[in-house]
Amino acid sequence: MSVFVVPRTIQVSDATSNDKPHMKRFDNRTVIITGGARGMGASHARGFIAEGANVVIADVLEQEGRTLAEELGDHAIFSRLDVTSEEDWAATVAAAEKAFGPVSVLINNAGIVRFAPIEKTELAIWHQVLEINLTGSYLGIRAVVSSMRKAGGGAIVNISSAGGMMAYPNNAAYVASKWGARGLTKTAALELGRDNIRVNSVHPGPVRTPMTAGPDAAAAVAAEARHLAIPRVAEPDEITRLVLFVASDEAAFSTGSEFIADGGVLLGPALQHARAEAAAA
Ligand code: NAD
Repeated sequence: MSVFVVPRTIQVSDATSNDKPHMKRFDNRTVIITGGARGMGASHARGFIAEGANVVIADVLEQEGRTLAEELGDHAIFSRLDVTSEEDWAATVAAAEKAFGPVSVLINNAGIVRFAPIEKTELAIWHQVLEINLTGSYLGIRAVVSSMRKAGGGAIVNISSAGGMMAYPNNAAYVASKWGARGLTKTAALELGRDNIRVNSVHPGPVRTPMTAGPDAAAAVAAEARHLAIPRVAEPDEITRLVLFVASDEAAFSTGSEFIADGGVLLGPALQHARAEAAAA
């Protein structure tokens, strides 16, 4: 059987055009963003709203999530979601459909990080990181697929990390979860492509968010950023722009792929740094 799905018309917003109303990239589409209450998730919520979407901010942080939804107006709601809970997922998808209609986009963004060498990583911490960062995304994909079929297709973006492409010390559970996100992404992409559902992963380098504000993380991120080809920490909206692209019809032929915005982390910062020092000597 041959399957040929014509993508919806690609509409690129043009802020300079003011002659007639133009379509935005996500007009009337229902978007669920996990971990949407703060950090990069909140930035993604603002970005999708600006592109015409109806956004469900799904998070365990009720107060922050509700406050953000109120600020964003009628096109945003908050749904309390613990990504490790099947019941919460069912309730969130139902709330999304009730408020805005079938789900077109899922951003699996919720995540946590815990720092310790493997020998000192408690089993409970290992499980917690894997449950939220990896199992949460699997549950999310499972929960939205039938809704996306009703919408005629959709896009799922799993937020991995540069740590899903390389190793970081003292971070085994996180790194394993982020490599796992790539495997999940690729398998889901294979299974869902013929339903017109694309599944991709996004791999940020260091980004300024509450996750990287704690003392351990802030020190690790600052040290990493110093050695990058682009030697700084990114702002959340720099990742949001990539997420919007990957989720939009502009990326209609991309599935099962990795999209990287890492300031050059994967170029091999240590070697690069050493050579730069040698050249300067
Ligand atoms: P953050 O800590 O600021 O935000 C994470 C959000 O996830 C929070 O709102 C939190 O409440 C939510 N969350 C945590 N556990 C949850 C659960 N069980 N159910 C639902 N929501 C839950 O972090 P961030 O930096 O904005 O990170 C967002 C994503 O980007 C994460 O997946 C993270 O691993 C990834 N990432 C971050 C960086 C970085 O440098 N900040 C780099 C690469 C990848």
